Amino acid sequence: MYQCKDITEEVNNYIEGDLPFTKRIGLFFHFIMCSCCRNYLQQIRSTISVITVSQPKEKDSADLKALAKQLHDMCDEHEH
Ligand SMILES: [Zn+2]
Repeated sequence: MYQCKDITEEVNNYIEGDLPFTKRIGLFFHFIMCSCCRNYLQQIRSTISVITVSQPKEKDSADLKALAKQLHDMCDEHEH
């Protein structure tokens, strides 16, 4: 079973469809169970579309990492 911290690492691959089927299913079920990671997925998706339109490609991973950390910290607070 996936933990929230695994989601932050895999979410980009999940969005890009760059994962084996079994892994996608695992992540998918985590998104069903965890509202926090669902919000996170939506945030990342909207961020990616903004970045793709307005930013050069090289900045993507840095921005997403920062956002991932921020959202994950929120997630941790929420769960305990
Ligand atoms: Zn989660």
